[in-house]
Amino acid sequence: MPLSKYRVLIIDDDITTIRLIAEALSPDYDVIITTSAEDGLKQALAAKPYLILLDVLMPRINGFTLCKQLKSNEQTHNIPVVFVTALAEVDEQAKGFELGAVDYITKPIEVPLLRARVRTHTRLYQQTLQLESLAATDFLTGLANRRKFDEAMDMELSRCQRGKTTLSFMMIDIDDFKAYNDYYGHGKGDDCLSMVARILKQSARRATDLVCRLGGEEFGIILTDTDKEGAMQMAESILTVFQEQQIPHASSKRGFLSVSIGATELDVKAHPDRDFLVRDIVDKADNALYLAKTKGRNRVEYVPLLP
Ligand SMILES: [Mg+2]
Repeated sequence: MPLSKYRVLIIDDDITTIRLIAEALSPDYDVIITTSAEDGLKQALAAKPYLILLDVLMPRINGFTLCKQLKSNEQTHNIPVVFVTALAEVDEQAKGFELGAVDYITKPIEVPLLRARVRTHTRLYQQTLQLESLAATDFLTGLANRRKFDEAMDMELSRCQRGKTTLSFMMIDIDDFKAYNDYYGHGKGDDCLSMVARILKQSARRATDLVCRLGGEEFGIILTDTDKEGAMQMAESILTVFQEQQIPHASSKRGFLSVSIGATELDVKAHPDRDFLVRDIVDKADNALYLAKTKGRNRVEYVPLLP
């Protein structure tokens, strides 16, 4: 990725310093600036910079306090912070590192050193983001993996319970997949998994829908702000896509590739005082999926979270 894609946020109450840094960096970076800590936090949340250059001495809220706020916010705690300050004393610098800063730049600013440090830290952060994304992705299908699913479902559950909203979840399992692998071979079996992943992604198109591979031939879709009716509609539309595409499955009695779907819904308004775990939801969807399998496959079944 070219450097210009990296966004750097400068927070400093001194216009001369901002101008100097911005001029040094703007040929290579997407530079945004602000002169107050209050606005700095807002900018960091909104602009998601790759690096924050933070002045220590500022009126009202100083750089140390802002750094603490950035590091305790889930959305900003990973963004590297580099302090920019005239304070050369060792203990002041140590304090900055203790608060989670990755580096220091002292005034007067030496432009070549500034550039070198910004380059190092933006690249390191880019690598961190890449690793995080790899660790959350299923290699074969490119979908979110089980680890990401657990994390996301946990977050959505608390969001749902805080906001008293509705959350649906469905589990999707390829019918007679073992027979498919036996008949066509494992290479084609992998292609089949990727194909199903694509169909599911195309069906769950809202930015908030999360499609994941739970393991083997089993997939999950988290549907936020979606009730039973919405989930069932999506399940039916997925079944229809498979019906229409008629992907050959010679060793299944239908002759084409199909899936079974188990759905469940958490309506927090109906159970305001109960806490639910990821496991509760997964178990219910699994029960529903089992029903769909025993009732003949290529269908959706629904089981409520609480009877
Ligand atoms: Mg200052």
